[in-house]
Amino acid sequence: MAWRETADPYRIWVSEIMLQQTRVETVGPYYERFLARFPDVRSLADARPDDVMKAWEGLGYYARARNLQRAARIVVERHGGRIPRTVEDLSGLPGIGRSTGGAIAAIAFGADSPVLDANARRVVARLFGVGGDPRTATVREILWELSARMVARGKGRDTALAVMDLGATVCLPRAPRCAECPVRPSCAAFRAGSQDAIPPRTARKSFPHHDVVAALIRRPDGSLLLLRRPPKGLLGGLWSFPSARRQPGESLEGALRRALREKLHVQATIQRKVGAVPHAYSHYRITLHGYLCVTGGRGTPPGERVGWMRAGRGTRYALPRADRKLLELIAREERS
Ligand code: SF4
Repeated sequence: MAWRETADPYRIWVSEIMLQQTRVETVGPYYERFLARFPDVRSLADARPDDVMKAWEGLGYYARARNLQRAARIVVERHGGRIPRTVEDLSGLPGIGRSTGGAIAAIAFGADSPVLDANARRVVARLFGVGGDPRTATVREILWELSARMVARGKGRDTALAVMDLGATVCLPRAPRCAECPVRPSCAAFRAGSQDAIPPRTARKSFPHHDVVAALIRRPDGSLLLLRRPPKGLLGGLWSFPSARRQPGESLEGALRRALREKLHVQATIQRKVGAVPHAYSHYRITLHGYLCVTGGRGTPPGERVGWMRAGRGTRYALPRADRKLLELIAREERS
């Protein structure tokens, strides 16, 4: 993992934010692309938010990108462009909590600060045989204390990297690779044979499913209408096709007409269904149904939130993955 070898605090910060909810294997290419586009904190602070979202496109959990840029601006304004060195100052920045702050302070500045990201939580719980649910405040505090105890004086960076990497590559959530684990002799869970029970498995949730309809409104020149989503919330700041969740008892086309009426104030004719794509978010799943529409020229879309793009061409707009899948369906149609 090349970024683990960097000593650049900015790069370490970006990598830790990307790794917050995403696996190392996924993050790699995004990290390289993002750093090529925004090589330092000032370039990120000065960037257009749309460009930041575009560089983050596909990585998900977009609040991370918004917070990263907000934090970059604070770093430039209040810290002269230098990433703060202490957990306290780092944790005051948007998107940085106690664990990410601890990881940045340790890895970038060698602070003897403990870390407790999801991987570290699992490693510490197993090493010390802490069997409770790490999502509860009590168990979490115990794990913080144990994690702090593990930091060898003056070895904060090595400890943080070792614990996090052990969790990412050896002490896996399912089927930990104990046979090749360097800390096996001192692992309480291994001795007790309780690796699979720590941390305790939570019952698999069943995620609700929603049908969502999207209007692919095409102009005569072939370009498609996009709306910018509100800056906060799920997929905030991205661009997407006008859409609506189908309500109980409503037909897909009924939901589509409602979306056109309520969101765009335009009269549009539904031409045909282009296709449907499944997509999973963290707490629910959707099937996104795309309908090609043409406007009858009446009504006015709210101007400042509107963009037009061509299917099959590179675009400056950052789109959610599900919308991009629909776009690919149209591009494929146009090629065939
Ligand atoms: S011995 Fe097994 S359970 Fe213990 S830390 Fe190593 S991989 Fe994890």
